[in-house]
Amino acid sequence: MPPSAHQILHDVFGYPEFRGSQAEIVETLAGGQSLLVLMPTGGGKSLCYQIPALMREGVAIVVSPLIALMNDQVAALHAAGVPAACVHSSTTPDEARQIADDIQTGRLKLLYVAPERLVTERFLRFLDQHTLSLFAIDEAHCVSQWGHDFRPEYQQLGILANRYPNVPRIALTATADAATRADIKHHLHLEDAAEFVAGFDRPNIYYQVIEKNNGKKQLLDFIMKQMAGQSGIVYCLSRKKVEDTARFLCEHGLDAIPYHAGLSMDIREANQQRFTREDGVIVVATVAFGMGIDKPDVRFVAHLDMPQSVEHFYQESGRAGRDGLPAASWLCYGLNDWVLLRERIQTGNSDEAQKQVELQKLDAMLAVCETAECRRVLLLKHFGEDSEPCGHCDNCLHPPTRFDGTIPVQKLLSCIYRVGQQFATGYVINVLKGKNDDWIIRNGHQRLSTFGIGDNFTDKEWRGIIRQCISLGYLTVNPLLHQSLQLTEAAKKVLKGDAQVWLRPLKRDKAATQKPQEAWLRTEREERIWQALRSWRKQRADDDNVPAYVIFGDRTLREIVENMPHSHADLHHIYGMGDAKIKQFGDEVLGICSEFAEGT
Ligand code: ADP
Ligand code: ZN
Repeated sequence: MPPSAHQILHDVFGYPEFRGSQAEIVETLAGGQSLLVLMPTGGGKSLCYQIPALMREGVAIVVSPLIALMNDQVAALHAAGVPAACVHSSTTPDEARQIADDIQTGRLKLLYVAPERLVTERFLRFLDQHTLSLFAIDEAHCVSQWGHDFRPEYQQLGILANRYPNVPRIALTATADAATRADIKHHLHLEDAAEFVAGFDRPNIYYQVIEKNNGKKQLLDFIMKQMAGQSGIVYCLSRKKVEDTARFLCEHGLDAIPYHAGLSMDIREANQQRFTREDGVIVVATVAFGMGIDKPDVRFVAHLDMPQSVEHFYQESGRAGRDGLPAASWLCYGLNDWVLLRERIQTGNSDEAQKQVELQKLDAMLAVCETAECRRVLLLKHFGEDSEPCGHCDNCLHPPTRFDGTIPVQKLLSCIYRVGQQFATGYVINVLKGKNDDWIIRNGHQRLSTFGIGDNFTDKEWRGIIRQCISLGYLTVNPLLHQSLQLTEAAKKVLKGDAQVWLRPLKRDKAATQKPQEAWLRTEREERIWQALRSWRKQRADDDNVPAYVIFGDRTLREIVENMPHSHADLHHIYGMGDAKIKQFGDEVLGICSEFAEGT
C-alpha cells in the first residue's frame, strides 16, 4: 500500500500534524482534483503539493518565478531525502540530461521550472512523453494585471488545462483580492476548481507600535532588548536612511547590511544571500526587498517609517515568523511620516481617483497605529475577517486607558480655526503654547484668544493629540498650502460641544514596549547547547552551501534542547526530524547533546 499523506508528513518532513486546511488540500490534489489555494505567508503552501507529488505516480511540475526560490526549495527537499530538481538558465546540458534520465526512470518526483521555459513547445513535447503527477503554480497572483507582480508569461500557463486535461493543477498565492482571484481562475482555467482560502491571521506575530522619538535609537533598543542575535528585516522609506541605519547598527556591534535598488546587482545578490543563508543577519532595506525571500526564521520585521498602506504593512511584517515560532512586528511612526507620505501621493503621477484611494489607504494605516484597541482585530478586519481581541499585541497586553480629551481638542481646533487654517503643526503648537516668536507677532497671532491656552502640554503631547485628531477624522492636512492643518466637517460638532472626544494616553506605558526574549531558554546549560547546535548548523550549512534553515529550523533546535534526545528513536519525536535527516545528522546531534549532558 502506498504511504498515506500523514505518514509522509511524519517520516519525510518530520512534522506531527497538518496545519489548517493542509490535510484537505493534500487529499483533494492527491485525489486528482484541481484547486486554488490562498494561504498567508508561512502558512505552509509548499507541502500542499509536495506531499501529493510523493503520493501520485509520475513527476510533479512546479512553476516558480524566481531562480533563488527554486534553488532553496530543491535544497530543502534534498535535505529531506526527496528527489527533486530545477531547470533554469544556469542548468548545464549535463545536468539537464541527468534530469531527463531521472524523469524517464520515474525516479524524480518534483521538477521546478520557470513559466517561460515551461510553455515552450520543446519543453511541452518533452512532458508529453512522461507521466505527470500534477502541476503546481506558485505565486499565482503573477498572472493578474491587478496583482502587484504581474508577469505576462504566467498568462500562457492556461494552455496546460487543454493539453493535460487529466493532470490536476494547484494554483497557490498569499495575496489576492477578489479581482486578482477572478483573474487567476480565468487565465488558468480553474473556473470549476475547489477554492481554499485560509484565514489571514498570523497568531505567532506579536504586534508592537511606538511613537517616533529618535527612531534609530529606539530601533537599537528594541533589537538589543528583545532580539539580540536574531535575523530581522528593517524597512525604511529612503535609500539614504537605509544606508544611515545600517551603518548605525553596525557601529553598535550588530551584523547589519543594506539593501536598496541603488546598489549594484552584485551587491544586492550577495547581501540577500548572506541574509538568507546565515544566522542573525539584519537586512536594512527599502520596500524593494522581500519578494521571493522565503527564509522561515526571520524573527522580527521593523518599520522605521510608517508604511503607506495596511496591505504593505501586512505583507512586509508577514515575512517574520514563517516557521510558526514567536516573532515580532515592530513599528515606529510619527506625524511627519504621515505628512511626508501624503505629500508623496499628492505630488505623484497617479490620476486623481487613484490618489484618493491611496490617501484612504494611508489613513487606514494611521488608524492601525493610533488605535487603542487590539491591533490584530483591526488588521484582520481590514482584510474582511472578524475576530476577538488577541490577548498578545501591545494594546491587549497593556490596554491604554483613554481619557476625556474634549477640552484640549476644542482648544486645538479652535486655535486652528483662528489662525485661518493656514499654518502647519509646529506653528499651531507655538500659538497654543504662547511662544513669542517673530513670525507669530508679525501675524498678530499673540492677540488671539487661543494664544497661550495650551501650556499644560508639551510639544510632543500636542503632536500626539493632533495625530489622534487626524486619525479620528477631525483634522486633515493640506499639502497644497504648506501642510497647513484644516478642520473637517466632523470638527464642527466638537467645537460646538456636541461631541465628546476620547484620547489614548499621551505618554505610552514603558512596559508596553518590553517583552522578554527567548523566555524558553531556562538554564545556562540549555543556552550553551543552543549555541553549540547553532554553530554546528552554520558549519554544516556552509559545508553543503545551503541556507542554515535547510539543515534544521530554529524550532527543531529548540525541541532538541528541550528534550535532550538520547537515541534515534527519541529523534523521531522531534519536530522537523524526518527519516533522511535523522540518518544524515542524527549522530552529530546526539553527540552534541551527550557532550553537554555529561558536563553537568
Ligand atoms: P509558504 O510558502 O506558505 O509561505 P512554506 O511552505 O514555506 O510557507 O512553509 C513555511 C514553514 O512552515 C516551512 O518551514 C515549513 O516546513 C513549515 N511547515 C509547513 N507545514 C507544516 C506543518 N504541517 N507542520 C509544521 N511545519 C510546517
Ligand atoms: Zn490584540
